Amino acid sequence: MVELTSGSDASILPAADDVLARWVRADQLLSVRRSVRAVVPSSMAVGLATTAVALYSSADWMFPVAWLVLVVVSNAFRAFVCRSVRSSEGSLGGLDEPGIAGRLRLVTLSSFLSGCVWALLPLFCRSEAPSETLFFMTVVCGVCAGSVIYSAAYAPVPVVFFTPALGAVTVWLVGAGGFHHNALALMVFVYLVTLIHASVRGDRAFRASSRLKNEALFMASELRHTHARSTRAARELDFRANHDSLTGLFNREGFFEAASRLGGETGSHRDHAALMLDLDGFKAVNDAFGHKTGDQVLQDVGHWLQLQLVKHHAVVGRWGGDEFAVFYKPRGPQDAPEAVAQALIDSIGHATSHYGGQLGVSVGICTGHDCSVAEMLSFSDEALYEAKRLGRNRCHRFDDALHGRLLSRRDIERDLSDAIASRAICVWYQPILGEGGRRLHSLEALLRWQHPRHGWVAPSDVIFAAANTGLAERLLRHILSEVCVGLQQLAAAGAHFEDVPVAMNVSPREMSQLPVDAIVLETLERHGLPAHRLQIEITEEVALDASAAKTRLRALAEAGISIVIDDFGVGYSSLASLRGEHVRQVKIDRSFILNLASSPGSRLMVEAVIRLGQSLFIEVVAEGVESQEELDALNALGSPLLQGFYFMRPAPLAKVIAWAGQRASHTASAHT
Ligand code: C2E
Ligand code: CA
Ligand code: CA
Repeated sequence: MVELTSGSDASILPAADDVLARWVRADQLLSVRRSVRAVVPSSMAVGLATTAVALYSSADWMFPVAWLVLVVVSNAFRAFVCRSVRSSEGSLGGLDEPGIAGRLRLVTLSSFLSGCVWALLPLFCRSEAPSETLFFMTVVCGVCAGSVIYSAAYAPVPVVFFTPALGAVTVWLVGAGGFHHNALALMVFVYLVTLIHASVRGDRAFRASSRLKNEALFMASELRHTHARSTRAARELDFRANHDSLTGLFNREGFFEAASRLGGETGSHRDHAALMLDLDGFKAVNDAFGHKTGDQVLQDVGHWLQLQLVKHHAVVGRWGGDEFAVFYKPRGPQDAPEAVAQALIDSIGHATSHYGGQLGVSVGICTGHDCSVAEMLSFSDEALYEAKRLGRNRCHRFDDALHGRLLSRRDIERDLSDAIASRAICVWYQPILGEGGRRLHSLEALLRWQHPRHGWVAPSDVIFAAANTGLAERLLRHILSEVCVGLQQLAAAGAHFEDVPVAMNVSPREMSQLPVDAIVLETLERHGLPAHRLQIEITEEVALDASAAKTRLRALAEAGISIVIDDFGVGYSSLASLRGEHVRQVKIDRSFILNLASSPGSRLMVEAVIRLGQSLFIEVVAEGVESQEELDALNALGSPLLQGFYFMRPAPLAKVIAWAGQRASHTASAHT
């Protein structure tokens, strides 16, 4: 039987017919080899017996002995040819078509030579010794019949063997003459033809059955290959479904699956640790060197994480962007999450230093909580947020304080929608004053929400919760309508307030992700309010933005809305943001006012901005004035616009109107 060799993988598929033909030929070769191995000993035995008879009946010993030598040599040659086939039998399936054909030709040649030796046998026959002649004739016919029986697989081998032998017998019989000899010659000739026919049929039958067998083998091998291919494809699909294509780490789905498996059947994760990692400074590398380098950095970071964490048998995943998650079971103090996190923080700079930019990593840790993997990750995410807030490139563990904060944030997110609908979220106002605090210049609208359980919620937390829950646009529209209602109330409050504008805060995220310009202009129009009554406060981050946010800002400015730069001085390149032609006002951040007396740098900065404002016709507001000293210092520097608790804390509009009314009448009476 022909073995399928491993090398046949690729070749059998494109030309199945060729391969089948080769396998059939190889089967023939092997069968012929087997038959020759069986025939050689008996051929030698018959040769010996024949020689003995020839020696016994003839005085001449030379010729029989010479003939025996030829029998031995021809059989030795046949055996040799077949041995050379056997030596390559192990790789017969790997032999190519010419290789197999060449070997078959060699076997056929050896068979022909052997046939020629037997064709010499009639030379022993003498007409005067009919019994010996009969012996020799019978031997030749028997040997020829045997060759057909044994070599049925490949017709040329028996045909070239018996044709010379039987041909020689026929010739001798015809040469001997006489009716009986001629009749016998005819019979031997018919016998020859019959043997040829039998050989050809045997060959055909062998090939047919070999083909059937090999077809079955071929199909089985095809099936094996198809199965192997589909298993490979399924494995690949499974890998892709569970892994991040960039880093090869687990994606979220794969991570959850692998981490849950780590927890075992109990599903308890009390003695496991979840780490959430976020790269510090990745955005800068991405911006400076481009996305391609950014991708390479992420790949390197993924590789580095795997190397660092392999000894902890940790599950490592990419959480999206430059965030990564780790889950493992600490087994000793060297495995403690803080130690692992610190090792990561210490080594990341080295691992990524070849990019030039300095990368760090912040890590949030959660451990000792008997909850799901997802919950542990959300806890470590909260801790990560805190690590970032505390100054980056450090780790922080999720504790009770964070737990409380997380729970309240969840409450806030849950209750936000109702709070908007019920107008529990409202707007308070804080005055901005001119002329050293004597004249009401404008108001800043500030979001307020007193949560029934958690008390006053910081405006930034409300904005954050809205972004998390998809309510950002609804909240913006709500605040805007509240501000418009406030503007209408101001107009109705008397001549003092008719033209007092209100500034509304818009966060960078709102500005870049919401169609703020369209929403603002449409809402103002719906309330019948002129654009100059509204101001939009944005941070420098937005003022310097080159994309959608800036286009929106320009549209708002062109419609007549004043753009105010908030928290001035705390961003990267403060002065550049003032160049924008649509900026009408700039608010110096409270941190400069706070340090005015103690820090010459702050003093210089405030002075410079006031001067710059004067020359660029931009109003300057000093934020967060809390004391008479601060007010005096500011007045001495050139009296900008003023805002702060010293004058009034943010309050509902009615209170602010009452406060401003009182102040106006107080100032008027002071003048008279
Ligand atoms: P901001 O725009 O810088 O607003 C000024 C903040 O400083 C207000 O805090 C105000 O109460 C506080 N403040 C005013 N005078 C003083 C003072 O003399 N001393 C001190 N220590 N603080 C003073 P608030 O209301 O908590 O707002 C915080 C931030 O939340 C705001 O900072 C603003 O960025 C954001 N925010 C407020 N309302 C909204 C809003 O409707 N939309 C958006 N996107 N952000 C808002
Ligand atoms: Ca503001
Ligand atoms: Ca501010």
